[in-house]
Amino acid sequence: MEFALIPYILFLFLIGYWASRWNRSVIVWCLIALLLSPVVAAILLLIFGNNRPQCPACRAHVDPEASKCRHCGSAL
Ligand SMILES: [Zn+2]
Repeated sequence: MEFALIPYILFLFLIGYWASRWNRSVIVWCLIALLLSPVVAAILLLIFGNNRPQCPACRAHVDPEASKCRHCGSAL
């Protein structure tokens, strides 16, 4: 049981990190992973996709608070 718990917790952290990278609520996605399953949360995260705004010049995903694109340097 303890052996199964370690990768489960690691996966939970991964979901949280992934959610934060994609500008999604870490708490909500960790709860989904806890209540349903980390696998289900990962699939849902893939379906809902990246929530970060895109740079109009290079289409790269940028930080929502950024004033300049860190990829091409154009103003957002
Ligand atoms: Zn750009």
